[in-house]
This record gives sequence, C-alpha cells and structure tokens, in this order.
Amino acid sequence: MTDGIFLALGSNAGDRRAHLNAACVHLRRRALSVTAMSPVYETPAHTWTPEEIQPPYLNLVMAIDTALDPLALLDVCQEVEGAGGRVRLAGKPWAPRTIDVDVLAYHQQTRAGDRLTLPHPRLAGRRFVLEPWAQVAPQFHVPAPFDASVHALLSTCADTSRLTRVASLP
Ligand code: ATP
Ligand code: CA
Ligand code: CA
Repeated sequence: MTDGIFLALGSNAGDRRAHLNAACVHLRRRALSVTAMSPVYETPAHTWTPEEIQPPYLNLVMAIDTALDPLALLDVCQEVEGAGGRVRLAGKPWAPRTIDVDVLAYHQQTRAGDRLTLPHPRLAGRRFVLEPWAQVAPQFHVPAPFDASVHALLSTCADTSRLTRVASLP
C-alpha cells in the first residue's frame, strides 16, 4: 500500500485526552477528513537526557485525506498546536507539551528541510508511533530512507518501552 497521509498526535501536559480531542475537532474543521484513527496508547515519555523525568504521553496515529500540500498541512498541524496552548521553549527539545502533531508520511513523498522532513526522520525508533500506526495501516510502505512497511518497522524497532492501550477517542 503506497497511498496514505498519516499524522501522529501526542500530549503529556494538562488534560491530555481533552487536548487530543480538541486537536481532532480542529483538524476536521481545516479541510481534512480523518479516515482512520488508532486506539489511544499511554506511553512513557522519550526525554532528551536519561535523568529527565516527564509525565507519560497519550499517543495516537490517524490516517487523513486532504487536498492540502505537505507544507500547508504542516501549517495546519502547527495551528492546532498553537490553539492547544503548545509553547516551544528555545533550547528545550522534547519538552512536555499540551499537544504535538507530526506529519509521519505523505504518500510516497520524500523531502528534507528545516520546516518539513518526510517521512518523519525519527519514526523508526519510536514504538509509540509504530504500534498505533500498525493498527491503522500495517501494510503502508514508508518510503526512503526506511523503505519498509509499518509492520516491518515495528517488528524490528529497538524501542522496548511498554505501551498501554487506553479508551479510544469518541
Ligand atoms: P520530533 O520532531 O523529534 O518529534 P518535536 O515534535 O518535539 O520533536 P517540534 O518542536 O514539535 O519537535 O518541531 C520542531 C520542528 O520540526 C517544527 O518547527 C517543524 O517545522 C519541524 N518538522 C520537520 N519535519 C516535520 C514533520 N514531518 N512533522 C512535523 N514537524 C516537522
Ligand atoms: Ca514529535
Ligand atoms: Ca512536532
């Protein structure tokens, strides 16, 4: 399967479920239809340094349909983050956040840039991405540099963190 646009959503601050819900409502309002949604998983936070402790995330992956091009889609993702009260702190990568919306893949497009890299460069090391994604589209072919299905990437993923399935969004 080579067609598909996929987003990863995560929240580990405030009312996490409310932030995910609000993001879904917002995305649907912005020229985007959600065609499939994974269950919601509670996942340990990946932190920049091992000493750092952060609250766990709620994560999900969705398949969407949109006529927006990749950069316009990223604009919408960032608009959703802004509306959800996301604050980026300079010099603080992977800080706790009310809502994060990443573009995982846009069909078979590949690009590298400051604003947008496709497919998302760190997806293969993240069980919190691959496990929900495999619930939505296990056979989707993730293009270069991965060049493998979601299912195959999950089965070779080195991230051993434990995910807990929690109630899905309505
Ligand atoms: P990570 O990218 O490792 O998941 P993050 O989500 O915490 O980290 P952000 O601070 O949300 O990182 O985003 C940093 C920048 O990454 C954004 O300003 C955006 O322009 C850029 N970016 C590049 N590729 C993508 C992508 N595929 N999806 C979302 N943002 C991207
Ligand atoms: Ca992210
Ligand atoms: Ca992000």
